[in-house]
Amino acid sequence: MGPGKLRTKICVAPNSCVLFSLFRQSSFRVFGSPRMLPFKLVYREEYYLPIGEHVFPSAKYRLLHQYLLDQGVASPDDFAAPAPAGDDDVLRVHTPMYVNKLKTGTLSAREELELEVPYSKELVDAFFLQAGGSILAAEFALNNRVCVHIGGGFHHAFADHGEGFCVINDIAIAIRGMQASGRIQRAMTVDCDVHQGNGTAAIFGEVEEPFPPPPAWSAGLTAPRKPAHMKQAHKGDVFTISLHQENNYPVWKPPSSIDVNLPDGTPDAEYLAWLEKALMTGIEQFEPDLLCYVAGADPYREDQLGGLGLTIEGLKHRDEIVFRFARNNSIPVMVTLAGGYAVRLEDTIRIHANTVIAAKTVFSK
Ligand SMILES: [Zn+2]
Repeated sequence: MGPGKLRTKICVAPNSCVLFSLFRQSSFRVFGSPRMLPFKLVYREEYYLPIGEHVFPSAKYRLLHQYLLDQGVASPDDFAAPAPAGDDDVLRVHTPMYVNKLKTGTLSAREELELEVPYSKELVDAFFLQAGGSILAAEFALNNRVCVHIGGGFHHAFADHGEGFCVINDIAIAIRGMQASGRIQRAMTVDCDVHQGNGTAAIFGEVEEPFPPPPAWSAGLTAPRKPAHMKQAHKGDVFTISLHQENNYPVWKPPSSIDVNLPDGTPDAEYLAWLEKALMTGIEQFEPDLLCYVAGADPYREDQLGGLGLTIEGLKHRDEIVFRFARNNSIPVMVTLAGGYAVRLEDTIRIHANTVIAAKTVFSK
């Protein structure tokens, strides 16, 4: 058993994470490098999606980890390694039939096609590992006010199927896990990926799929340009907020508690004003114990799968707004990365790294 596995075992139960962090704090003085962040980053060397040549840059986890070290943003002791989620964790969100199909390789041809990534057992293992990362990130966020998961954000996975590069919904799994352990009762998701968080909205809104279900994949979308507008439809113990490009995947957008539908090319100032408005509207209606920030890098104006007009600076400002909102309202915040398909991979890495830097800026105060 290597050190990563030992760490992993120690951290499975929420309370034992306290022991783990005490162990780490006492050990790094002798053996480790000084920590540079007032919170943890969750990451594991095995983070990689086995999908071959693909628009999803699955090397981004490793590259971001290295970038944060190289730039002096974080030291090795700022990172914590998760264990894979267990079946019991995943079954709090996903149907037994779907989980069984994933584990036995018996998805239908259509179900495999909807994933938009090639199915394999290794792919399922990779998603279970990242779901474990989001569970650990939620635990650390509750202990330290904030935690950034260098992974996760698979918001297109529904209870009974996956789609849009998402096999299982790590955000929902983390929330249901924290509720099951009694650590939280209510959570809020703030999804700023350019694509609507359809899986998360459906899981927590318990909406029925329309019949017949519309195509899930991203091709061939055309729609007339509409001005930005906000829709509200809240129910249940998780409040879901999604800001996204309206004229983009998914075609069918199940209602979130708040959906902000943005027109193509929305620039920084307009986007940030809508973000502030959505957060204020949300907190007037709902008091969460945990905030799950889905910090997609794909609202970037040079994203291959996005059509909004945000700059790298605008995206960093977005991160700061969400972190200040969480800090000022005393809501612990866990962050997941979600999408990012910039023409230049280094832009995607920089946008994700800026999220860590924004958390450091806001939570160092
Ligand atoms: Zn996306």
